[in-house]
Amino acid sequence: MKENFIKTKPFKTLVISQGLTGKMAGMPAITTSLLCNENCKKLSNIIGTVCEKCYAIKYVKSRPNVQKVYEENTTLLTSSIIPRKQLPFINAAYCRLESFGDIVNATHLQNYVNLVKKNNHCVFSLFTKNYTVVFNYFKERKQPKNLSIVISSLLINEPFNIDYLSETNLTNVKIFTVYSKTYANGNNVIINCGKTRCIDCLRCYKPNKQPIYISEILK
Ligand code: SF4
Repeated sequence: MKENFIKTKPFKTLVISQGLTGKMAGMPAITTSLLCNENCKKLSNIIGTVCEKCYAIKYVKSRPNVQKVYEENTTLLTSSIIPRKQLPFINAAYCRLESFGDIVNATHLQNYVNLVKKNNHCVFSLFTKNYTVVFNYFKERKQPKNLSIVISSLLINEPFNIDYLSETNLTNVKIFTVYSKTYANGNNVIINCGKTRCIDCLRCYKPNKQPIYISEILK
């Protein structure tokens, strides 16, 4: 008997980063590349921003293979809606979204929301400084229960103003701010990030009804 094969067009799938180090050790992540992100580029030119001191630029630039994977994730996530069956299964209880990039557009965010909904056994945390895209998206849509939004404050020593959240449907939000050592010491800022691995801490992943504040010392 002759066996028949149906030729299917291969498709690219999102790459999940495993084996990260430092505080991300043990935490899977899906990320795009900050080198393909116009908002990241723009913010890195503004004095006083965290982006001006971004350590991730050096990391990604020195690893061409890593950059290629993140670039491919960027293309996949930002250009069209990925069919549900092509979204990956996350074999973990927690997963970070964006560790070396940020949201580019509404299509990107919709793809993440679809991924979050498909993997409702997993708790996701999305880190972002692209407030416009994220807030506009969640003005009209509900935040999935297994998705935390971590609003990364743009300026060093200055937490994001939570009044801006009032026009959105966001509830499960963390405000993540980076402080200089001098400012933190002089202003009794409680530093609650940086001493343990995320997987042991989970502050950015556990749900909360009111915004909570997370503070880290500038690296
Ligand atoms: S607060 Fe905890 S979970 Fe959030 S980034 Fe810091 S170590 Fe990771």
